[in-house]
Amino acid sequence: MKKGKKLYEGKAKIIYSTSDKNLIIQYFKDDATAFNNIKKSTIEGKGVLNNRISEHILNNLSQIGIKNHLVKRLNMREQIIKLVEIIPIEFIVRNVATGSITKRLGIEDGTVLDQPLLEFCLKDDKLNDPIIAEEHILAFGWATKKELEKVKKMILRINDFMIGMFRGVGIKLIDFKLEFGRLKTDGKTEVILADEISPDTCRLWDTITDKKLDKDRFRKDLGDLIPAYTEVAKRLGILHEQSNVSAVNVTKLRPLKKRK
Ligand code: UDP
Repeated sequence: MKKGKKLYEGKAKIIYSTSDKNLIIQYFKDDATAFNNIKKSTIEGKGVLNNRISEHILNNLSQIGIKNHLVKRLNMREQIIKLVEIIPIEFIVRNVATGSITKRLGIEDGTVLDQPLLEFCLKDDKLNDPIIAEEHILAFGWATKKELEKVKKMILRINDFMIGMFRGVGIKLIDFKLEFGRLKTDGKTEVILADEISPDTCRLWDTITDKKLDKDRFRKDLGDLIPAYTEVAKRLGILHEQSNVSAVNVTKLRPLKKRK
């Protein structure tokens, strides 16, 4: 399959067409942005780590029946993914209150929620991704009732699975963001998970120390983002223990054989 022209460049990824009209190539950049693009930087090696971590998680989700856009990882920075029509909603799942919700609602940082809390944000940078109610989604036709019900079921399953996966390696899944898309095949349309899942889009805290192993290291100027993402990759068994924790080494790592 041939890589075609650049279709779109986002904050952390670039999308290219391919010779197959149903597939696109997703390139993971090293760019980091926060607070709706106000804070920007380039962190060498981040794209490589997110590509690998996201591949690992999406493959695991496929194995438990969660359909998603990943076809296969091509190389250290690229994946082939299915072309979908993105539902313009960011689904935020929270197990512990931190980040925007603590400021918005005055909730104490670190409050453990009795059950996962699902929030909806409209995907619109110009409007600052405003939080919306389910009623808005239906009123303005951003998704149908049926699609929302399906997405909500998938989200709970994804959350359960990821909580367990991370707990097994000493990490707490605090919150994360997901996007879904409509996949058209043979005249039928199906909603699938269509997003990366990585420390850029999840909050991950060490179980014992509460050390932040995610993009908050960039948002809050905590430093050492690459060592933290590398730690997540190592604990998940994606990188060998002896892999060195420097950005330069991360970018030079060769693909490892897929683990069973
Ligand atoms: N998130 C994301 N992309 C966004 C907004 C949020 O990946 O555009 C993730 C974020 O990394 C965190 C969760 O969603 O894991 C909840 O984020 P929150 O609403 O607290 O926003 P923030 O504090 O990042 O503004």
